[in-house]
Amino acid sequence: MNKKTIDQVELKGKRVLVRVDFNVPLDEGKVTDDTRIRESLPTIQKIIASGGKCILMSHLGRPKGKRAMEFSLGPAAQRLAELLKQQVIMATECVGADIEKATKRMDAGQVMMLENLRFHPEEEKNDPGFSQQLAKLGDIYVNDAFGSAHRAHASTEGITKFLKPAVAGYLMKKELDYLGRALAEPARPFVAVLGGSKISGKIDVIGNLLGKVDTILIGGGMAYTFFKAMGEEIGNSIVELEKVDLAHSLIKGAASSSTKLVLPADSRVAEELKAGVKTEVRSNRALRENDTAGDIGPEAEGNYAQIIRKAKTVVWNGPMGVFEIGEFAHGTQAVAEALVEATRAGAVTVVGGGDSAAAMKKFGLEDKVSHVSTGGGASLEFLEGKQLPGVVALTDS
Ligand code: ADP
Ligand code: MG
Repeated sequence: MNKKTIDQVELKGKRVLVRVDFNVPLDEGKVTDDTRIRESLPTIQKIIASGGKCILMSHLGRPKGKRAMEFSLGPAAQRLAELLKQQVIMATECVGADIEKATKRMDAGQVMMLENLRFHPEEEKNDPGFSQQLAKLGDIYVNDAFGSAHRAHASTEGITKFLKPAVAGYLMKKELDYLGRALAEPARPFVAVLGGSKISGKIDVIGNLLGKVDTILIGGGMAYTFFKAMGEEIGNSIVELEKVDLAHSLIKGAASSSTKLVLPADSRVAEELKAGVKTEVRSNRALRENDTAGDIGPEAEGNYAQIIRKAKTVVWNGPMGVFEIGEFAHGTQAVAEALVEATRAGAVTVVGGGDSAAAMKKFGLEDKVSHVSTGGGASLEFLEGKQLPGVVALTDS
């Protein structure tokens, strides 16, 4: 990575303003999944241990530019305090003279959580005045919010024009190292597994990976837009008719590239995609009018698992089926388990995408692959070959 990191700056006695991604799910004022908070602990603990003053800022939910206390970062601060086993000062605001004074009164090793950035519409508008106000709260800026790095907002991009050095935290570095290394210098075979409901969200990923990866394994709902393009019967399976031409050109693009594009040999179908339905397996040339495909079939599972197990680099984005429903979770679980086996055999395996990460968690396998990205949208844009504004804005090393 060609950006300065938190290891390359003096933190002692400094007010270290850290953009974290504490956009965590809440239920009745309690954090129900603290993964994102736990992932940011190495950076926070480093600042504490170095005698810095740690000032954290984040967004949470969509308060739409208004102060709405159901989106307060209070519960996240409380969970952080439990994890750190130390007090976290909860600020009532994220900008202003009082907060600025409070940051200056902090002792070395203290931690403060600012209130939700998105209580101010200026945050998402990347307003320079707001960026400047934020910049007053720190002597050093650290971005550890990979999940927000694909957005040019005041706290991720604008602020770096007023507060330098702007460096990457450990989570940001870890994400960029894994995703970056996978794409830049992959050990081969390099396999990408792409699924999810729609092809539209993944077109640019497929486009960017053609010629880079050895094999793309397609699963999930998007497979049926490809089958439609090939003139196959897809019954009532999810399809994007306006993307059929595009699917066609991706198939052609793959044929003239070094990348093999593989579609599932069979599907698990039902009359409806709901729990408790009777499912059947159909070869993909034998789907019927009333079939809705909810998962890849057992032959595809076996084939995909075998290809993944032989890979040395695997990037996975998008579930193979409607894994939220037990009847249609087989394909996704088979792929997840194959990734675990590949990891054991020495492969670098990276999971991106919010739902894919949720699937890994559901199967209890999230610690058994090389890396599960905390940023769904950001990891997708990275795989599309796009520059992330929050990363570009950091100080070069
Ligand atoms: P990610 O968040 O990992 O990038 P996506 O958001 O693209 O993944 O897609 C996830 C969703 O795709 C899941 O909610 C899953 O139920 C849905 N899905 C997968 N296969 C199918 C299918 N055959 N039909 C309809 N929806 C599907
Ligand atoms: Mg998703």
